[in-house]
Amino acid sequence: MAEHHAHKDGYRLLVVEDEPAIRALLESALRLAGHTVSSTDTGRSALVEIERQAPSLVLMDVMLPDLDGFEVTRQLRAAGDDTPVLFLTARTDLGDRIAGLRVGGDDYVSKPFSIEEVLLRIDAILRRVSGTDSAAAPAPEILRYADLDLNTEAHEVHRAGQYIPLSPTEFKLLAYLMTNAGRVVSKAQILDHVWSYDFSGDDRIVLTYVKYLRRKVDCFDPPLIQTVWGVGYCLRLPREQAGTEPS
Ligand code: CA
Repeated sequence: MAEHHAHKDGYRLLVVEDEPAIRALLESALRLAGHTVSSTDTGRSALVEIERQAPSLVLMDVMLPDLDGFEVTRQLRAAGDDTPVLFLTARTDLGDRIAGLRVGGDDYVSKPFSIEEVLLRIDAILRRVSGTDSAAAPAPEILRYADLDLNTEAHEVHRAGQYIPLSPTEFKLLAYLMTNAGRVVSKAQILDHVWSYDFSGDDRIVLTYVKYLRRKVDCFDPPLIQTVWGVGYCLRLPREQAGTEPS
C-alpha cells in the first residue's frame, strides 16, 4: 500500500490479536503513524512470527485462543528473547495486570483503548529500550501515565521525577486509576476495587480520597485526575492537551 506519511521514526511492530476488528484498527492506525505492521491471531503463531521477524515491539492481546499473552511472553523471556511487549488487556483486575508485567511485559493498555494511548505507550517503551538511558532500564513493576510513575513493589509514586508520599489507600486508588488510564471508572467501581467491599452506597469516601489524591498528585501541571460528571473519574490529560474535541 502507498505510504504518504513521512517515515520519521518507523518501527516494525507485530500485532497479536484474535479479534479481527481490533486487529484491523490497530494495523491501520499504526501504519498511519509511520510504522511497519504485521499481525497474527494466536499465541503459537506469535512465537513463530516474533522469531522470524524480530519486531521492535509486540502488541499482545492477553486473551488468545491457544496460549494466552502472558504465557507467550513467559516463553519468550524463558528463551532469552527480550522483545518489548505491550499487553492489550480487557481484564479489569489490577492483580492480572501486574502479573502481566511480572512475566516480563513492558506495559499494557486496557480495552477499550484509544489509539492515542496505544501510540503513547509504544513511543515510551521504544524510547526506553532504544537505550538513550540504559540507567533507566524498564522496571516491570512500574505503571506509567504521562509524567506519573507508580512502582507497585516499592510502593512509590513520582511525578515529573519528584517523590510523592501517599497513604496506602491513596496509593491503591491511584494504582486503580492508572491501571485504567484513559477510561472512566465509576465511583462504584472504585469502591469495589480500592475498598474491596460494598460501602452500602456511601460513595462520599471516594470523593474524599480523590480530593486527597489531587492535592498531592495534581498540584503539578497539567491535572491528570479528571471528573466526568455523573459518571466517575478518569486519569487522563486534559482535553486541550490530548488534542481531542472540546466539549
Ligand atoms: Ca482476544
